[in-house]
Amino acid sequence: MLITNGKIVTWGDAPDVIEGGALRIVDGIITDVGTTTNLVAQYPDDEVVDASGQYVMPGGICAHTHFYGAFSRGMAIPGPAPKDFPEILERLWWPLDKALDADAVRLSALVCLVDAIKHGTTTLVDHHASPNAIVGSLDLIADAVDRAGLRAVLCYEVTDRDGPEKARAGIDENARFLKAAQDRELISATFGLHAGLTVGDATLAQCVEAAEGLDTGFHIHVAEHEADEYHSLQQYGLRVVDRLHKSGILGPKTIVAHCIHTDPWELGLLRETETWVSHQPRSNMNNGVGAAPLDALLSGGVNVVLGNDGFSNNMWAEWKAAYLLHKVANRDPRRAPGDGIARMATQNNARLAEVFFPGQRIGSLEAGAVADLILVDYHPFTPLTAGNLPWHIIFGFESSMVTSTMVSGRWLMRDRELLTLDEEAIAAEARALAPAVWQRYEREVTKVLGE
Ligand SMILES: [Zn+2]
Repeated sequence: MLITNGKIVTWGDAPDVIEGGALRIVDGIITDVGTTTNLVAQYPDDEVVDASGQYVMPGGICAHTHFYGAFSRGMAIPGPAPKDFPEILERLWWPLDKALDADAVRLSALVCLVDAIKHGTTTLVDHHASPNAIVGSLDLIADAVDRAGLRAVLCYEVTDRDGPEKARAGIDENARFLKAAQDRELISATFGLHAGLTVGDATLAQCVEAAEGLDTGFHIHVAEHEADEYHSLQQYGLRVVDRLHKSGILGPKTIVAHCIHTDPWELGLLRETETWVSHQPRSNMNNGVGAAPLDALLSGGVNVVLGNDGFSNNMWAEWKAAYLLHKVANRDPRRAPGDGIARMATQNNARLAEVFFPGQRIGSLEAGAVADLILVDYHPFTPLTAGNLPWHIIFGFESSMVTSTMVSGRWLMRDRELLTLDEEAIAAEARALAPAVWQRYEREVTKVLGE
C-alpha cells in the first residue's frame, strides 16, 4: 500500500518533515519513505491511499496508564473532599478497583481503547488493578486490545493492601501473563507492582523471585507523594529508589512512574541503572502532588518518558500540560522547552516501546519501522519545519484533527470512522454497567469513611 500526498513527519532520531511525501507499507512494515512522485513511479501497481495533504505521523505512545480507572468519570466521592494524595488513594482508587468485576475490567479497557484510537495513540503501557477479579484479568484486557487492534504492554499491580493471598494472586497473574504474551505480535507484558508504600519486603522478594527467568523488568509508582518517601524511610530506613535498587527492581526494562519527591541521589541511581521514569503532568496537577524535576531528568540523561496515568489518551494534551506545568511551578518560562518535551514523547517513548517489542522499530516513519501511524488534518498558517514542529504541536495541534489511525498496517480508524470497535455499543454497555460499579464502590468507600 502507498500513502501518498502527505506531509510526512518522521520523528525518530533525525526528525524531518517531507512535503508532498509518500510511504509504502508491506505486511505492516514501512518499506520506503520519499516523495509521492518517486514512490508512485517506483510502485505503480500498489493500492494508493491519498492523504490529501494531511500530516502523516507516527502514532502516539503512552508510557503509563490505567484502563481500570475509566468508571471514575463523573463519579462522586462521598464525604469531605480528599485533602491529599493518600486520601485520594483511600477514598477513590482503592475502593474503585475493589468494585471491578470481570465485565467492568473488560469495559474499562474497551472505552479507553476507543478513546486511544480516536486520539491517535497507538501504543499504551497499562498498569492494572482489580483485587476482586485478579485471575485472568490481563487476558480480558488483552482480548479487548486484540479487538481494538492497538499495541499494548500489560501488567497487574501487586500490593499487600488486600492481604497475602491477593498479593500472591497478583504475582501469579503477572508471571502467567508474561509467559502467555511471549509470542503475541501486538501485546507484551511486564511485572506490575503498586508502589513501595504498599509492597512489603517479603512480597517484593517474592516478585523478584517470580520474575526470574521471565526476561522482564517491573512497572511501579515511585514517590508520587512525599508519603511514599516518608513511609520508606520510617519502615526500611531507605529512600524509595534506594530500597527498590537494593531489591533488584531497577534496570533498563523497569518503569517507575512519577518520581516527584526523589532526591538527587535517587535520580543518579535511576540514571545509572537506565531505569525509565514516566512523567504524567495532568495527573500530578489533578492530585496536587507537585511537579517532577523534569528539566533535571531531561538534561541529566535519565530515560524520561511521557504517560497519562489514566487521563484521556490524548497525548498532545499531556505534551501541553508538561510544557505549562513546569513554567508555573518554577516561575520560569525557560523550563520544559518544547524540543525537550518532543524528545521525551517521541524518541524516548519510542525506545521504551521497543524494549517491550524487541526487534521492531516503533515511533518513527522510516524504512523498517512498523506502520503505526495517524493522519492529521492540520493547516499551519506559519511555516512548519522539523525545527519548530514541537511548538506547532503545543500551540496548534489538537487530537480532534486526527482523522485516521493505523497499527501494524491495519486501519483502526479511517476518516474518523472507527473500524474495529463500535463506540456507541461499547459506551451503552458501559453506561448500563456503571451504576452497579458505582454502588459497589460506595459500599467499599463507606467502610473506609467509617474507620
Ligand atoms: Zn499511575
